[in-house]
This record gives sequence, structure tokens and C-alpha cells, in this order.
Amino acid sequence: MDLHRSFVIRESGSRIINPLDPGRLAGLGRALRLPPGTSVLDLACGKGEMLCTWARELGFTGTGVDLSTAFVADARDRARELGVADRVSFVHGDAAGHVATEPVDVAACVGASWIGGAGSWQARVDGTLALLGRSLRTGGTLLIGEPWWRRTPPDRETVEACHASSPDDFPDLPALLDRFDDLGFDLVETVQAGPDSWDRYAAPQWLALRRWLDEHPGDELADGLRAELRVAPRRHLLHQREFLGWGVFALMLR
Ligand code: SAH
Repeated sequence: MDLHRSFVIRESGSRIINPLDPGRLAGLGRALRLPPGTSVLDLACGKGEMLCTWARELGFTGTGVDLSTAFVADARDRARELGVADRVSFVHGDAAGHVATEPVDVAACVGASWIGGAGSWQARVDGTLALLGRSLRTGGTLLIGEPWWRRTPPDRETVEACHASSPDDFPDLPALLDRFDDLGFDLVETVQAGPDSWDRYAAPQWLALRRWLDEHPGDELADGLRAELRVAPRRHLLHQREFLGWGVFALMLR
């Protein structure tokens, strides 16, 4: 099982595959105020930028799990590049059901909560927090990166531009906060994306698509990705960056 090739093409210019920019990602690590040696499990770790940079800056250790062989290879390269290959390791595989052998101080799933459950956002959030909780030591911290509606989407075009099929696919912020509370968590820290950091996630994909198309005009994916490049900038600039909030929430069980 592997991630579809189109994601690898689209994300080829990005190290962070979520709408936090490098400054926000570093700020999140510092905000946790945890000591060197803190152990982290990162499910659906992508290219491992969070683990690698936190290992270098904060002395954390950890394991990342991701479905993409290409992303896991990039993560291992990045660990070597930052000189932290002895502190972080990356596993290729399905993170759904992955439980750490030793309980960790921090268990994270940033932007992939479908690994915890299918269907409603409630099922995804509940399932992901339950999954992460199975790897967490008593008193540890969970990190979950989730989207939420900043404004109620006024029409179908907005919903689809935000990669949703219905407005109910994402919560508004009060509903998401209520959910964390109902599940018995204290929200102890957060770093939120803003329209400008959303741009740093979305826009590099357009140049990546364009360069790939120039090099692979006859590829079987070319027609689809060419069509995507025509609409993606509008979808992002007119809709996503205005309507979709996104943040990482740090939670501790009460
Ligand atoms: N957390 C990373 C990546 C987020 S993008 C970051 O913030 O940079 C979503 C990631 O989920 C992709 O890397 C994709 O390969 C991974 N993914 C999707 N389904 C998965 C699964 N079932 N198990 C593990 N990883 C998965």
C-alpha cells in the first residue's frame, strides 16, 4: 500500500504538509515546554519535518509512521541532513492501529485524522485521539491537527473548494472545542494557521505541478493535474484561505 503518486508530485516543493509555516511549527514545539529527551510518536508524519526540526532544536526523540514510501525516504534524508538520524526514525506503513511499543511523552497526528475513523469529523477526531491515547504515557500530551470552518460556507462552490463534500465534513471552532471538552481533555496549547501560512502550504503545490507538467507532458496523470492547476489557485485564494481555519491542538486528559 502506498500514497497515490499525485500527492508526491503536488508536495514535491514542500517539507511541511500542513498549513503551518516553519516559524509556527517551531513555535509549537517550544510552546510545549518539554525537556530534551522527550519522546514523540508522529502518526502520518509525512516528510518528518516536525520530528526532525524538534529533534535538532529541542533535543526530542521519536518515531514517525507514514504510508508514503517517498515521504519516508525524504524524512530519513532530512534527519541525516539535520544531524538527528540517531534520535528519530521513520517507519513505512499504515498508521491506523499503530501503537508504540513503549508509551511516549507526546503522541501526534497532524492533518490526517482519517486514520482514526471514517465518516463524520466527530468519528475522525474521537478515533484519532483514542488511537493516540493507546501510545501515550499517563500525563502525556496529544497533538491533533484539524481543520475548522472560520466562516459558514455560503455555497457549494466554497464547500468543494475546501475539499469537503458537505459543510458537515468540518466543525466550527466552538463545536471542535466542545468535542475536546466532552472527551475529557484540557486544551493546554495551540498554534493556528493563518491565511498567510495557508498560502505557504497551497501555493508551492502550483509551481510543483507546473514544473512536473513541463517535464512530463505525456504522463497518464498529466491531463488531470493540468486541470487541477487551472482551478487550484482560485480555490485556495478565493475560498480556502478565507473560510478554512486549521490548527494543532495540544490536549491532556483530565
Ligand atoms: N503530518 C505531516 C503530513 C500530513 S499530510 C505534516 O504535517 O507534514 C497527510 C499524510 O498522511 C501524508 O504524508 C500521507 O502519506 C499520510 N497518510 C495517509 N493515510 C495514511 C495512513 N493510513 N497511515 C499512515 N499515513 C497516512
